[in-house]
Amino acid sequence: MDILHDDLVILDWRDLAACADHDPDMFFPAGETGPAADQIRFAKRVCATCDVQDECLTYAIETNQASGIWGGLTEDERRPVRRRWLSERRRRHAS
Ligand code: SF4
Repeated sequence: MDILHDDLVILDWRDLAACADHDPDMFFPAGETGPAADQIRFAKRVCATCDVQDECLTYAIETNQASGIWGGLTEDERRPVRRRWLSERRRRHAS
């Protein structure tokens, strides 16, 4: 997907990822408590500033990313979003 950004055509949404300058481990916490809770808070703060948050979340939902923070959501938070997406996709294919 091409994205028009400040008069430049960016070839991939990842080129605009706000997390690109951060330690990737911060976006893949082990669990949700203790130090992992701090990692999740940090990752979500970065995602909140990201120009491609929607594209990132869509990618994670469509490719069923099982772990990590994508589009500002943890795997647990993405699960109901993916269920709705699958349900909607089934409904579209059935009609
Ligand atoms: S939404 Fe978060 S994880 Fe996705 S590209 Fe942006 S900063 Fe990275």
